[in-house]
Amino acid sequence: MSRPAPRESIALMAGYHSPQIDVDVRLNTNESPEPPPPGFTEAVADRIATIDWHRYPQRAATELRTRIGAVYGLGPEQVFVANGSNEVLQTLLLTFAGPGRSAAVFEPTYALHSHLSRITGTTVHEGERDEDFALDLDVVERVITEHRPDVVFLCSPNNPTGVVDPVSSIRRVLDLVEANGGLLCVDEAYGQFSEFSAVSLLGDDVPLVVSRTYSKTWAMAAVRLGYLLGPSWIIDELEKVVLPYHLDAMTQIAGEVALDHLDAMHARVARLVEERGRLVAGLADLPLEVWPSGANFVLIRPHHRSGQDVWQGLVDRSVLVRNCSSWPRLDGCLRITVGTPDEDDRLLAALTEVLA
Ligand code: PMP
Repeated sequence: MSRPAPRESIALMAGYHSPQIDVDVRLNTNESPEPPPPGFTEAVADRIATIDWHRYPQRAATELRTRIGAVYGLGPEQVFVANGSNEVLQTLLLTFAGPGRSAAVFEPTYALHSHLSRITGTTVHEGERDEDFALDLDVVERVITEHRPDVVFLCSPNNPTGVVDPVSSIRRVLDLVEANGGLLCVDEAYGQFSEFSAVSLLGDDVPLVVSRTYSKTWAMAAVRLGYLLGPSWIIDELEKVVLPYHLDAMTQIAGEVALDHLDAMHARVARLVEERGRLVAGLADLPLEVWPSGANFVLIRPHHRSGQDVWQGLVDRSVLVRNCSSWPRLDGCLRITVGTPDEDDRLLAALTEVLA
């Protein structure tokens, strides 16, 4: 048989991988180190027992969208939900970008922004962040005015650096996007860990959407659920593109039940922010560079040792972190998710040994 070939752009792709290695301490994918609060699983189980399994789920997920919207003072028509924020971003690109259109990203940033753009046939324009990984507004202006991208991605707090874009920068990018006819998407997968949210800039006549996820702050990575907040006319277009009944009944239920535990989520975020401070203080004593983070992870660059060697040394001690050492601009860097105090102590002990 002659094997059918995928589209040329797909055949050339490396794919997006994060190894799932069996270790004691998993600090590689920015999950919550704690499960959802007591009562959550039982409440989900009770509601799941009432599902009409022979029927499709509620297609518009109205209850879930209403509950999410209420958290932000928005209506269900301003909320789009999908299987993880990656699916949210993919749907956005399928709708507003795609062949003959383009997206802009400012590197280093979340790899899926450019990866999903390419998968959807979107041309990618890249600009560089400055030495401290902050947005360089001159570069942003050049990329936007030169290419007039259909979608501009920002990520704040940024993955994998942890850098938070100041509100003045986000406002400036939004002005540029507006003047050049595009759409700004601020990926706030880690938004609850930082103080400012671009949600406050949303408006019916503003070309801005904000994506968020249940995977990190909600401690629900096992359920694939993400959402986008934005003007209702944008949500209407996304609804045309996403597959019918894409969000199953169990996911909708889990998402609704989680919203009964908002206080627990806020308390968990506060604990993690405090623990992030302790972790950074511990890292500061070691021979490495550490970047200030507004997220639930920290980027480091060990001195005098290759990132790959240090990563392997940690794996040998049953601690898994994200190896970014071969990524552009991140030579030698590793990204560490904030874990429980015990997990972070194990990481610090292992790292001390490896760097000795
Ligand atoms: N955006 C950013 C910045 C992320 O780091 C991630 C997860 N790594 C996602 C989106 C996707 O998360 P999910 O699909 O689990 O919602």
